[in-house]
Amino acid sequence: MKDPVQVVPGFLFNLVEKWLMYRKSSVLERRAHQFALGLQTRKLYPAAIICAGKSYYKKVDRSKPFDSQCISNKLRLRLLTIGDIHSKQNGNLIGYCAEVNAANHVMLKLKHLNPEEVNFSSAIRPRTMQKMPPCKNCKLTFNI
Ligand SMILES: [Zn+2]
Repeated sequence: MKDPVQVVPGFLFNLVEKWLMYRKSSVLERRAHQFALGLQTRKLYPAAIICAGKSYYKKVDRSKPFDSQCISNKLRLRLLTIGDIHSKQNGNLIGYCAEVNAANHVMLKLKHLNPEEVNFSSAIRPRTMQKMPPCKNCKLTFNI
């Protein structure tokens, strides 16, 4: 028979952890969704948008050519493990994804962060509001 003192804290811990994960993800999801709706209103249709964040700092950005002049050093080094920035790897151009652009804002602000520590909403295609899975480069870069 299990000791109830050991059973209850584990159960509570799981509940609290799930609740915290839900809260964290829902804030990012809500920000991304609102941003995509705003683009639709203005009839602007980038391929994808996403919200990246860590603790208090959250930023939505879109897929576009990466600004090589203003890049987090940790993110640049991680991208270079896949290939040169702007080169095509695994079917996608490195640095053009919404994930990279959004995460760069967060990593420039919170310089201690590693790429895999950045949280993301789902990526959304504003034209259709469909959720998009991350590409292979982003899976490798951010471990998502
Ligand atoms: Zn990607």
